[in-house]
Amino acid sequence: MKTENLITIKSSEELEVLREAGKILAGIIKELKRSLKPGLTTKAIDSLAESLIRDKKVVPAFKGYRGFPASVCISMNEEVVHGIPNARVIKDGDIVSLDVGIIHKNYFSDTAVTVGIGPIKPELQKLLDVTSEALYKGIEQARANNHLSDISHAVQVYVEAHGFSVVRDFVGHGIGRRLHEDPEIPNYGPPHQGPILKEGMVLAIEPMVNLGTWPTKILSDGWTVVTQDGLPSAHFEHTIAITKKEPEILTA
Ligand code: MG
Repeated sequence: MKTENLITIKSSEELEVLREAGKILAGIIKELKRSLKPGLTTKAIDSLAESLIRDKKVVPAFKGYRGFPASVCISMNEEVVHGIPNARVIKDGDIVSLDVGIIHKNYFSDTAVTVGIGPIKPELQKLLDVTSEALYKGIEQARANNHLSDISHAVQVYVEAHGFSVVRDFVGHGIGRRLHEDPEIPNYGPPHQGPILKEGMVLAIEPMVNLGTWPTKILSDGWTVVTQDGLPSAHFEHTIAITKKEPEILTA
């Protein structure tokens, strides 16, 4: 591992471990998504997540991170990110964001997805589709010799073209031996700014998209981020590697 303006460049051995981590995490979130059904508390979903994580012999990366009390962040409806699992019950019509991180052989992997419970309103389905697609628009720009903000700009342009807004207060990040490494990756901004991307950089790209306006606030629990206007929000995230050719989605 060497650093490039504080952005670590992973060796091929490190990339191999990150690939394993991503694959394990993708399996965990797939199973977790499948288990969501009306009537479950978010606490029960967290317990299930923790057992899926421990079954794979990996470690939940968020548990205890700066004092976070659970294995996954579960953010419903107007909650943007960092929701603490609790006694709330999920029901038909809700949208539920699952954000999961693991540590495998000392390397981190991070992914998030927002899921509709049962039938959801068409505007919510559109919010999920646009946020998911915005993530892929960002990933598409994660190429050697592009600038970092080409990712940011692609996400913002796509989201705003569909009438939604991008959260400003929280950003994506580099990832590797630490959960949050340089650089910060905003989901908005002009193109062609910031560091030049290089082969071997590993990034967690994570658009958070609001149905209404972008401002957010943090609840008194110190963690849960909600929209200020109370309208719903969606969140999708992949850990990706920049290669010689196409971006490689490690958590696909
Ligand atoms: Mg993340």
